[in-house]
Amino acid sequence: MSPFWKKDEKKQSDADNILQMERTNPPAEEEKLEAAEPEITVKPAEEETEVKEMAAAKPKVLTAVFSGCTGCLISLTDNYDILLDLLNAIDYRYETTLVDQREIPDEDIDIAIVHGSICLQDKRQVDEIRKIRQISKFVVALGGCATSGNITKYSVGGQAAKPSHESFVPIANLVKVDFALPGCPTGPEAIANTILAAVGGDLEYLTPLATLAGFACGCDLLVKIVGQGLCIGCGTCAMACPTRAIEMDYGRPHVNQELCVKCGNCYAQCPRSFEPTFEMIEKRIMGVE
Ligand code: SF4
Ligand code: SF4
Repeated sequence: MSPFWKKDEKKQSDADNILQMERTNPPAEEEKLEAAEPEITVKPAEEETEVKEMAAAKPKVLTAVFSGCTGCLISLTDNYDILLDLLNAIDYRYETTLVDQREIPDEDIDIAIVHGSICLQDKRQVDEIRKIRQISKFVVALGGCATSGNITKYSVGGQAAKPSHESFVPIANLVKVDFALPGCPTGPEAIANTILAAVGGDLEYLTPLATLAGFACGCDLLVKIVGQGLCIGCGTCAMACPTRAIEMDYGRPHVNQELCVKCGNCYAQCPRSFEPTFEMIEKRIMGVE
């Protein structure tokens, strides 16, 4: 199966670029003579092909952190025993702690993983998320803050002598998000499975994540699931809520808005949220094509 991030055939892999450079910058005469010396070993064609395939198989990835607690990054590193395998499966181009790269690179990226919401009063954040969208084939919102704004929506910032209102919004308010992975924080297994699905091109796993950006809170659960008569009373939403804001009453969820931090966990975990609800009702029940 071809990885989904390789859908743009025009973009060359690193290996292709190296081969291209070799073609456009042929070695000087002295280098050619040196290369003719018998002690210089020529790389076998199969080995060269293998290196090219390995470089081409790894997606170029960046991770960017905006407004949040970095708990989702800690959750990624909580994958302990498979963390090195995960990091080896990707070509990590930018990350503020794991990669020695201080600025978002000026190059094409396959998958951008973004965590944290965007502060609208912070020009650097607004410019950076726009640049990330421009250079990346796919943008993944990781965690509640990037996906729905989460608890940062309650923040007014600007402490001390000169308080000023500051607004924090999910990244989907500014740029198109391809896949969203809610949670506060997102579970280590979910992050690992998403990275592996992305690397392996497992669209069956990733497709439901394409519908989750922007859903914010228990209100969405009540309006779009319970309100549409889709709730089966399974209680998964209550178990998924990190603040215990949901109680099951007579087989239906009730959300305590005083406790809800708008992480989106309940909606993401609800088994009925993966149905395209309105379309499903129209097509399957009302018979509308
Ligand atoms: S009800 Fe709980 S799980 Fe749902 S958005 Fe609020 S805090 Fe998150
Ligand atoms: S997870 Fe979904 S289906 Fe299950 S109780 Fe909650 S709203 Fe209903």
